[in-house]
Amino acid sequence: MTAKGLKDTDRTRDELYRKLPSVNELVLTPALEPSIAQFGRDRLVHAIRRSLKDLREEITAGAHSSQSLDERLGVIIERVNEQLRSGPRYSLRRVINASGVLLHTNLGRAPLSEAALAHLAEVASDYSNLELDLNTGTRSHRDVHVEDLLLSVLGAPEEESFRRGVVVVNNCAAATFLALNALAENREVVVSRGELVEIGGGFRIPEILQKSGAILREVGTTNRTRVADYEGAIREQSALLMRVHQSNFSIDGFTERPSLEELVSLSRTAGVPLFEDQGTGLVTDLDRFGVGDQPTLRDSIAKSVDLVAASGDKLLGGPQCGLLVGRRDLIARIRNNPLLRAFRVDKLTYAALEATLLEYLTGPTESIPLMRMLGTPADAIERRCRGIVEALGSNRLHAELMPVESVVGGGSAPGAKLGSYAVALVHTEFGAAELLGLLRKADPPIIARISDEKVIVDLRTVHPRSDAALRSALERL
Ligand SMILES: *Cc1c(COP(=O)(O)O)cnc(C)c1O
Repeated sequence: MTAKGLKDTDRTRDELYRKLPSVNELVLTPALEPSIAQFGRDRLVHAIRRSLKDLREEITAGAHSSQSLDERLGVIIERVNEQLRSGPRYSLRRVINASGVLLHTNLGRAPLSEAALAHLAEVASDYSNLELDLNTGTRSHRDVHVEDLLLSVLGAPEEESFRRGVVVVNNCAAATFLALNALAENREVVVSRGELVEIGGGFRIPEILQKSGAILREVGTTNRTRVADYEGAIREQSALLMRVHQSNFSIDGFTERPSLEELVSLSRTAGVPLFEDQGTGLVTDLDRFGVGDQPTLRDSIAKSVDLVAASGDKLLGGPQCGLLVGRRDLIARIRNNPLLRAFRVDKLTYAALEATLLEYLTGPTESIPLMRMLGTPADAIERRCRGIVEALGSNRLHAELMPVESVVGGGSAPGAKLGSYAVALVHTEFGAAELLGLLRKADPPIIARISDEKVIVDLRTVHPRSDAALRSALERL
C-alpha cells in the first residue's frame, strides 16, 4: 500500500468514527425513555456502550462503508433495546476453536476435563479445607492438596537424601521469577547464550533474571555451549545453573548443548543447584502421537534436576498455573519468600489441578481434552469433516474436505505437526477475511484460519459435541 493509500483509509475511518453518536446523545433519545423506566439508566448506558463499541470495532476492522454504517446507525435504537431484552451478555465466552492450534494462548490454552470442572464447581460452591488440616484442626498450606499427587504422577522416587516438594503459583513466568528471587538474589545464575530466549508475551529470560535481582552470567555461544563453559563460570558468587527449554523455536545445523545428565553431574560436583525452566509441563511421551521427541517433566525429575518450573495449562492440560517441583530445602526457601504471597493461586486452581493430576493416575488420559485432541486419529477427523461437507447444501458457500496439519502451539513443541482434516470454505459473496469475521460473530463464536484464500475449519481442536453447532452456523452463511 502506498503512503497516500494509507492516509486515504485513515481519513475515511476518521470520518466514519465521527458519524458515531455519543453515549449521552443516545441516552437522551426520547425513543429510549421507556427503556430507562424499565431497566434503569445504568443498564441502558451499558447496552449503548456495547453497541457503540461493536460499531467502532467494525470500523477499525474496515468492515464499513459510509452507507453500511448509516444502515447500522438507523437501527441502533432497536439494537440497544434488543440487547436489554435479551439480558446481560458475558464478555468472556466459550468459543469453538477450529484453528487447529491445540494450545492457543489467545483462546485460553488447555480446556479443562469434566472431572476438573466438577471438582472446581463443588469446591467453589461452598467453603473448603484450602488451608485447614482436617486431622489436627490446625492451619496448613495450600500445596498439600497437590504435592504428593504431582510427585506420584511424575514418578518421583522416594529417596531420603532427596525429598521433593511442590509449590504452585500463577503461571510458569511467576514460578521462574520466584525461584530466581528466592535462590539467587544478588548472586550469579549461569545460563547458556543459546537459552537467553523470549517465550512470548514479553517473557524474556534476561529481563526476568534482572528483575528478580539475580545476576546473569552468560556462557557459550548462541549455537554451541559445552559443559566446560558452565564449569569455567562457576565461582563463589554462583547461586544456580539454569537450563531453559527452547520451547518455541529450534536451531539446526552446527549446534551443541550439554545433556541434562551432564548438567546434573556438574551441579553435584560443584555444589551449585541446577534450575530448569522446563515450560511445557509435559508428563507423558508425545512420541506415540507422532509429535516427535519432546522433553518431559517426568524425565527432568527422573534425572534428579534440583528444581524444575513448568506451566499447568500447556502440555499438562490443566488450569493456568506455574509448578515448582524440587528439593525440599530449595522449596522451603521459596515458601519463605514474601513474594509467594503475591503469586499464590486460589482454590479454583487447586481444585482443577488436583482433578487433572488424578486423571493421569487413574487413566485413560483421553479424559483430559488436550490428550484426547493429541490422540485423535486423522481418519476420525476426516469422517467428521466429510459429514459436515455433505450436509452443507448452499450454493453460495462452497465447502470441501481438505487434509491439513494441526500444531501444538502455545510455545510448546516447535515444528511439531499433527496430520488432520479440515472443511475448507469459499463464499461467492464474501472474501476469506470477511468470512472469517462472520464466523467470529456466530454464537458460539467460531475461530478459524485462512490459507490460500480459503477459510480453514480444522476439526482436531473442535470437541465432537460442537460439530452440530458448527454445522448450523455454516448453514446460515
Ligand atoms: C511457556 C513457557 C513459560 C511461560 O509459561 P506461562 O505459564 O505462560 O507463564 C516459561 N518458560 C518456558 C520454557 C515456557 O515454555
